[in-house]
Amino acid sequence: MAEHEGDCPGAVNVVMLGPPGAGKGTQAERLSRTRRLPKISTGDILREAVLAGTEVGRAAKETMEAGNLVGDDIMIAIVQDRLSRPDARCGFVLDGFPRTVVQATALDRMLAGRGPLVVLDVVVPEDVLVRRLATRRICSKCGSNAAPEWTNACGKCGGALVTRVDDGIEIVRERLKVYQRQTKPLVEYYATRRSFSSIDGNRPPDVVTAAVDAALDAALDGASRGVTL
Ligand SMILES: [Zn+2]
Repeated sequence: MAEHEGDCPGAVNVVMLGPPGAGKGTQAERLSRTRRLPKISTGDILREAVLAGTEVGRAAKETMEAGNLVGDDIMIAIVQDRLSRPDARCGFVLDGFPRTVVQATALDRMLAGRGPLVVLDVVVPEDVLVRRLATRRICSKCGSNAAPEWTNACGKCGGALVTRVDDGIEIVRERLKVYQRQTKPLVEYYATRRSFSSIDGNRPPDVVTAAVDAALDAALDGASRGVTL
């Protein structure tokens, strides 16, 4: 069926879902390394576009500064462009996309003939997220939020880490509410598929990683036996 399957045996496309603070960026990073798949973070792509001052970057900056999420059209165009590059041909780990059902249906269209899609939803109780987010630090230079707790330097670029200015408790709660409202239909869209797994993210990162690996292996095992994902 798939035109890529000849040169991409075992291709796998992974979507990581989860609210801000759930640790899905870290898990996506680890999965990318162990499975040798490019990690595609729409947050990173947007930040780069903003820094580079491209048309997309300028539009995205205005939207984000107004406290809104970047619209479906821009996000779909960005991801379509990124997935068409050679390194994503045999699979990828997507972090930050899709956020809406419109984006999810667009992704399904993009993936026709490109191997199975596995969706992993990292779930963490709201009070835990609020606590994590209110104390989270980001890099003042590159905006990376995968800041290790034991150092004051960014693991990516060495820049100084600062507490996010927008991470007051009230703002954190509001951001989580926006996330839940937006992604509830998205989770419903995916939840009936065999390739969808809910992962308990309220555990130490290594335990979560083991659960992520197990869920992905189970989905791939099903796919290899011809179970429709
Ligand atoms: Zn940095």
